[in-house]
Amino acid sequence: SVHTALNNQTVKQLDRKGVFYSWSVQGSLDPLVIKSGRGCWLWDYEGREYLDFSSQLVNTNIGHQHPKVLNAIKAQVDELTTIAPSHANYARGLAAEKVLARAPAGFDKVFFTNGGADANENAIRMARAATGREKVLSAYRSYHGGTGSAIAATGDFRRVPNEYARGHVHFFSPYLYRSDFWAQNEEEEAVRALQHLRRVIEAEGTTAVAAILLETVPGTAGILVPPNGYLAGVRALADEFGIALIFDEVMAGFGRTGEWLALDHFGVTPDLITFAKGVNSGYVPAGGVLISEKISRHFNDSMFFGGLTYSGHPLAMAAICATLDTMEEEDIVGNAARIGANVLAPGLKQIAERHENVGDVRGLGVFQAIELVEDRATRQPLNAKAMGQLKAAMIERGLLPFVVANRIHVVPPCVVTAHEAEQGLSIINDSLASLRT
Ligand code: PLP
Repeated sequence: SVHTALNNQTVKQLDRKGVFYSWSVQGSLDPLVIKSGRGCWLWDYEGREYLDFSSQLVNTNIGHQHPKVLNAIKAQVDELTTIAPSHANYARGLAAEKVLARAPAGFDKVFFTNGGADANENAIRMARAATGREKVLSAYRSYHGGTGSAIAATGDFRRVPNEYARGHVHFFSPYLYRSDFWAQNEEEEAVRALQHLRRVIEAEGTTAVAAILLETVPGTAGILVPPNGYLAGVRALADEFGIALIFDEVMAGFGRTGEWLALDHFGVTPDLITFAKGVNSGYVPAGGVLISEKISRHFNDSMFFGGLTYSGHPLAMAAICATLDTMEEEDIVGNAARIGANVLAPGLKQIAERHENVGDVRGLGVFQAIELVEDRATRQPLNAKAMGQLKAAMIERGLLPFVVANRIHVVPPCVVTAHEAEQGLSIINDSLASLRT
């Protein structure tokens, strides 16, 4: 069909005619129409402007339409748009070098994927091959992707109708505000969560567990910064029982927390690291597995049974190279750290003081969350209707928020300015105030 008049209405009609949505009841969708963007801003067809405090699915770390990344993709388009993974290609080799440069010492290979889910699939596959074991332990409060093992490893409600992969076991990871361990402070939470994990390993069979898979900072589950000592304790358990440790840095990695990788905050080195999203801000779909020498060595003389037609796709690789270079040149990771520490964290503290419905605020860098409650004493999550009103109030005021369950995740691009961050906080503040009227 020919669409002569492109506007919010015609674009939405076309979308609703044919597009099948992720994680949705298809009959009741009313999407926002977005035409274009730049930096932290998005526009519809009527010139309506939105401040993007979601970074979409927490992936546009470098902001929308960064010209240096666009130019690199355009240059690669002219050189070679696609090439099989079995050929050596300069863009792919360079991207591997640049991604590996951000990993801890001891990592020497990277396997490129199309996104985060298949990064986790392949990390699990590598851990199983290298250990000769099958079980994978992961946290109930987690999201690892929508495919086979990645969704079975996921902790949240999306796993339950999708448990077709075998060998997955879950445990409770730390979350002091809603402690599963009756903990009163971070130290108790860490020690007791580690004791619980030890018991799960023992009960599942100490020689049966191939991998422990953890988001370094669980994202979708609520931006749950692990307490001091927890990740080091998990590392020690993995070592004690010969288990491969996988950190999922798909959402937390590449600037989001104000460090290149979230694990840099904790000084703990896993055996495998999965990444996607921020590595090239999703300008071209990409993800991958960073492989430590301890694991990569296994595959020097053993077959790796895995592969993807688009592993190391040249356009994705060019986008990775330009994104990482630009993040370095423009100190975008430093910006995320400064905005987090100087604007978002104090701003969220103020919001918590002003609004009774705020139960907790927490996070690192531009990876922060506001947890809303009915009542501060009972900590009962704020009801879905009020959350819906709050979301509508923010959009009405020109803010594109990231709302999950009873939380607002405050996750603007890492390039957000202090002024933009204050604008966003002010809209959140006004929207919270509107709840009471
Ligand atoms: N892991 C984490 C921590 C994520 O947040 C996500 C996506 O939100 C994924 C994995 C899956 O990534 P993708 O949607 O690119 O497959």
